Amino acid sequence: MKRRDFLKVSAASAAVATVTGCSSDSAEPAEPIEQPITDPIAGESHAWAQCQSNCWAWCPLKVITKDGKIIRIEPHTEGDDNFNTGRIHNKACAKGLMLKELVYSPERLTKPLKRTGPRGSGQFKEISWEQAASEVAQSIRSTIDTCGNRALMLGNGSGSAHSSYPIMGPHVRLLNMLGGFQKTYGYYSASMKEQAISYTFGEGTKNFAYGQGTGSSSVTEMKHSDYVLSFGYNPVEMFMTGGGEGHHFIQTLEKNDLKFVYIDPRYTDTCLGREDDWLGIRPMTDGAFIEALFHEILTEYYINEAFDDNREFAERFILGLTKEALTQYRDDLKTGKIVDGNKEYADWIYPEENLKDYILGLGKFADENGGNSNAKTPEKAAPICGISADKIRQVAQDLLTARAPFICAGQGIQRSAQGEQVMRMIYTLPVLLNAIGRRGTNNGDLPMVAAAGPGAAPVPMAAWSDPTFPGFLGGTAPATVIQAKIPTYKTFEAMERGFEMTYRSDGVKGLKYGVTPFNSELPESEVNIKDETYGTNIKFLMTIAGNTVNQHGDINEVKRILSIEPSSAGQAEEPGLDMHVVIDTQMTPTAQWADIVLPDTTWTERWDLIASDNATVLTVPSIEPIGDSKPMFEFMVMLADNLGLSGFATKGRTQEELTKSFLDEAINGMLGDPELPPLEGHEKTGYVYIHSFDEPAIGMEKEFNGRNGAPALSTPSKMVETYSPRLAWIASNDGWDKDIQAYGETGGLSAIPKYVPTWESFESDDEGYPLQMVSYHTKGRAHSTFHNCPTLRKVYEDAIWINPYDANNLGIISGEMLDVTSKRGTLQVPAKVTPRIAMGVVALGQGAWNKLQNGKDIGGCANTLTRQQTTPLAKGNPMNTVRVRITQA
Ligand code: SF4
Repeated sequence: MKRRDFLKVSAASAAVATVTGCSSDSAEPAEPIEQPITDPIAGESHAWAQCQSNCWAWCPLKVITKDGKIIRIEPHTEGDDNFNTGRIHNKACAKGLMLKELVYSPERLTKPLKRTGPRGSGQFKEISWEQAASEVAQSIRSTIDTCGNRALMLGNGSGSAHSSYPIMGPHVRLLNMLGGFQKTYGYYSASMKEQAISYTFGEGTKNFAYGQGTGSSSVTEMKHSDYVLSFGYNPVEMFMTGGGEGHHFIQTLEKNDLKFVYIDPRYTDTCLGREDDWLGIRPMTDGAFIEALFHEILTEYYINEAFDDNREFAERFILGLTKEALTQYRDDLKTGKIVDGNKEYADWIYPEENLKDYILGLGKFADENGGNSNAKTPEKAAPICGISADKIRQVAQDLLTARAPFICAGQGIQRSAQGEQVMRMIYTLPVLLNAIGRRGTNNGDLPMVAAAGPGAAPVPMAAWSDPTFPGFLGGTAPATVIQAKIPTYKTFEAMERGFEMTYRSDGVKGLKYGVTPFNSELPESEVNIKDETYGTNIKFLMTIAGNTVNQHGDINEVKRILSIEPSSAGQAEEPGLDMHVVIDTQMTPTAQWADIVLPDTTWTERWDLIASDNATVLTVPSIEPIGDSKPMFEFMVMLADNLGLSGFATKGRTQEELTKSFLDEAINGMLGDPELPPLEGHEKTGYVYIHSFDEPAIGMEKEFNGRNGAPALSTPSKMVETYSPRLAWIASNDGWDKDIQAYGETGGLSAIPKYVPTWESFESDDEGYPLQMVSYHTKGRAHSTFHNCPTLRKVYEDAIWINPYDANNLGIISGEMLDVTSKRGTLQVPAKVTPRIAMGVVALGQGAWNKLQNGKDIGGCANTLTRQQTTPLAKGNPMNTVRVRITQA
């Protein structure tokens, strides 16, 4: 079986889908390259490890040691770097190459610790692993006995994505064997787009591993396009690896004659002269910009016969484009001529609220004189989004006349208070243009990497699918696992008022009357007359390789909640954690707030096996664990022993033995790839095995390849639901939802996606905070990982970007230390005055470690400023909706 077939079958076996289509003009498959270890310099040894940070490129790292210590890290350099054959280097960026600084950092955890002072005081004493295991086990048992399994929570963590970690790790299995734990839904990266895609294209489109992909095309599919419109898709800064997505993007762009238009408040390294146009849009105004594109496209459709084919395609596939079609659909639902999942929402279908009338200012949306002055013209959008009307018209004309427009979006755009709305608009755009599911196009979403498949999962998945070790997605005890799910962005809130949270008040899913895949006991339209509370606060939290104190919104609020210490343990309705356990390699801002801190090993100190986009890396330890640190896996075995779960599916194996069994399964198992090298000959060094590229995939090709026939999507209507009857119902009944109430009179939801100004947006009252702030993934960190590498802090300066016009008005010069203040707090950071940021906007790299001094965060963490207010539909994190004021420090 070919590796890519193996991956597809593997992914399917875990109920995650695979690429949606393959082209016939694939790149030449590469021969697998087994990477030799070069002759060592005298006294040096070499072994392979992997950068397992949440950048998701997972580059191989050649670890050079001498006398048991790491001397330096080198990149992978073998191969011929020929993009067309796929024999490319998989070179680590500066972050991976600085791993040595993490291994030996002053913040490195080397002993188990127990808190001695107040939470957050940083006062700890050393304890033994045995004591730690005993106390943690005791707390887990006591929490279950007094508050139930719903009071147990695993914290969000993605800082070490190896084969026995995050969502499919032994900790998941262990807690499931005890009856389950509270789970969350939605995640920091992409909650809003996942909801948007599911409402627009159907749940079945949300189908790649870990929700990263949503039926999009691969990045290399761009080579068949003649026009790329990017809403902040920034692969060059996000994936700096020499062999991954950023590299694919650059190669694709450089080798093809296409027009590239980039829309983002920041002029990022993805541009650097590659773009034909950079449109420095104001944050959260993309919706107004897209409404104006819709206006230009629809105007052409209804006056210009040249676009009849595209108009007919749009009318056939889009539910809600015209009043007539929506009326017909509603009537057919009511009379039973059509039977589909929208039937129960038929009374909430309002045909007069169709997209065409809304955009063109017709019908219900006409002005008081019956005219169309409410039309969403480029002239209306220009003063909002900051892009001239002429430029908007140019983009619309380019889209209309392009042979194969490739429309894509990064994920920053959807991390905003109206993230769901803008993504629904972006997904509608290619359908409106008849530019979806065919060569050179995309469905509007983040493109996928054109390589070996969905990421790291396949290799461990093969082994974890062993029925005696079915840890994947925690499926060891399906009859007893907790089905309730709290929105991830309410994780900390649930420590204070989880007991009263309901489906209606806080979007808790999986309760008796909640509507989830597990429970549809009542039609959703009746849910608002019944409700059930979650019943307990979160009392026990275990965070592994996660820095959620730093990475959640409104750090000061997070700390306030974590500082609450209940008067006695086991009180379900009393605010505050009974125990907070952090397992990590560094004393992070999150670890400082733990009760028990346990030292994990780094990526160089343990066995592992991971498949990345470009390579499978077999890691063998380069050095002994530092101090008294242990692989997290070994602590879970100790914990299981203390909980009476001896040998919990490990069959007594160590991490080394387990990794070898993973490898054996990955080569020889039912879904194995016999081309993977065996262990023999690599016991001391591990290896890097280069994958051949997968063929470029055309997003949603299957769904649209019958483009002349009836639509066949997984939405209730089988159409692209630009008008969502279910959202129409929610919008009509949202009075009970306090999250939606927070959006004020404008509300947060509507049946068709619209541009709606929200709190702390460009059009809201600035209340003394005149600038909009966005945060971005800096080249010097992978989220908060690598923050404590001194070299990276020197190379990639942490500074807030401000336009020269704004800087001049405020009398600010580059390098000057500033106070940046929002309604939530103040941080200090130097200024970077640059024309690479739009006027009225400032931008700050996220992930810096919060460090409070005299009430100000001198560490410069963006989340000192962000708000803990969930978005209306996905209940996600609107990190890019922030207004700030800036003063000299
Ligand atoms: S941060 Fe990403 S690109 Fe850099 S070395 Fe690590 S995995 Fe590779």
